[in-house]
Amino acid sequence: MATIFTKIAKGEIPSYKVAENEEYYAFLDINPLAPGHTLVIPKNVEDDYIFNLDGKTYAGLWEFARKVALALKAAVPCKRVGVAVLGMEVPHTHIHLVPLNSESDLDFRKEKLSLDGDRMKEIADSILSEYEKI
Ligand code: AMP
Repeated sequence: MATIFTKIAKGEIPSYKVAENEEYYAFLDINPLAPGHTLVIPKNVEDDYIFNLDGKTYAGLWEFARKVALALKAAVPCKRVGVAVLGMEVPHTHIHLVPLNSESDLDFRKEKLSLDGDRMKEIADSILSEYEKI
């Protein structure tokens, strides 16, 4: 059965898209640690453990994430973009990209934000527009 993230990549479940190419998709985390918190996924490989990916998909995922992180930093003011791979909840490989202003911004135990739809769309569109310049 397809994972929720596969359905998102196919457009069957809505998401706030921030970047896409043929093989990879990036969208805002619905419960962000910080505004702009983004998830990056391979579209066609559902394996839930990133280190099980074949080398080509793995390298391509990180290269795509690198570009998304540059776009994210350009769109959302922050000191740098932090990276995390957890996979405790959704069984489909994904990389978290989180705008950081302090170390504690990457603490997954802290209470998540809930931003309204208009704000999420505004953030996603601004990242997408930076991504399209790369
Ligand atoms: P983890 O699997 O532990 O890396 O966490 C999964 C992440 O996916 C969490 O940060 C969730 O907020 C996020 N998430 C779950 N469902 C959705 C969704 N439908 N759209 C966007 N983000 C989601």
